Amino acid sequence: MMMPVPNDRRLNILVTGGAGFIGSHLCDALLQAGHTITCLDSFVSGSRANVAPLLNHPRFNLVEADVCDPYVHDGPLDRVYNLACPASPPRYQLDPVHTMMTCVRGAGHMLSLSERHGARFLQASTSEVYGDPEEHPQRETYRGNVNCIGPRACYDEGKRAAETLCFDMLRRAGVDARVARIFNTYGPRMQADDGRIVSNLTVQALTGEDLTIHGDGRQTRSFCFVSDLVAGLQKLMEVEQNPHQPVNLGNPDEYEILDLAEKVLEMTQSPSRVVFKPLPEDDPRRRRPDISAAERLLGWRPSVPLQQGLLATIEDFRMQLGVQSPRQETRRPVGQPAR
Ligand code: NAD
Repeated sequence: MMMPVPNDRRLNILVTGGAGFIGSHLCDALLQAGHTITCLDSFVSGSRANVAPLLNHPRFNLVEADVCDPYVHDGPLDRVYNLACPASPPRYQLDPVHTMMTCVRGAGHMLSLSERHGARFLQASTSEVYGDPEEHPQRETYRGNVNCIGPRACYDEGKRAAETLCFDMLRRAGVDARVARIFNTYGPRMQADDGRIVSNLTVQALTGEDLTIHGDGRQTRSFCFVSDLVAGLQKLMEVEQNPHQPVNLGNPDEYEILDLAEKVLEMTQSPSRVVFKPLPEDDPRRRRPDISAAERLLGWRPSVPLQQGLLATIEDFRMQLGVQSPRQETRRPVGQPAR
């Protein structure tokens, strides 16, 4: 956890997408550090519940708006974290044109805003800019293998274009822009129905449904716990020297999806079975970040092991779904039947 900053280093910070999964954890951390936060969100994929506990906080302000529309900020602004964009494939494919516009127009608006205010800017980019990678693990120098006309392109190409805008603005010395390439992140506050692999498998295990694996389950992903990722985003924003390159943020421990499913089954003590379905178009086969740049430039590396992060995630889904843990079930009064 970051230490609170002294009064004279307290900042005015805008977090777009602050009501989403990662954004709401970032708002929590920045408030805890003593900063004043404006959260701008359209709630297209975020949740009011994520920011409800912050609404009465004297240093928290919620603006309901779309980053595709120009935004005027009253008062000083020191930092802009641009996280606004649905992150899970079912969500970003619901309205692909709006997703593309959110990435490109949204980044454009937030960069202009940063330029007007002299604010430092951080773009939440993604490992999806590498597409289905032919280089493994992925270094920031790898230029990617993206299908620019496929169903994932609205997100992948939108994020690539947003990176271009950031580096053009940086080159013309308009904005101190930084780019985080975020790899799969998981943790509490993921939504049960948003179609990410960790949430899908956990919810299916907790509700006794079959665990759906697309393909043969041998494709790999690397999973970063949300508190590690949020610490990395803050480090990238606050490092004095602009890195002048995108920085991978993710956990380099690599798992086959089948291994993850087995882990989830074991940890939830679920009787569910694993079933296999066809692989969606353009689904990447392997994903693992090379995080040597983050280690060297930011002194950052993730520290939460998958087992520990999954435990917190499973507990959060139990609460969301109202599913008892096996421990609670064994504590039921003698003579009362199991549900
Ligand atoms: P999320 O969908 O939970 O959060 C995104 C937030 O942005 C939501 O609150 C949504 O309502 C808001 N939003 C979307 N479009 C908007 C618009 N046009 N105007 C205003 N608000 C808008 O996703 P997340 O997992 O929290 O991801 C946050 C950011 O990190 C995204 O930019 C995503 O691309 C990036 N990212 C996430 C992951 C991951 O594994 N979670 C991986 C790579 C990159």
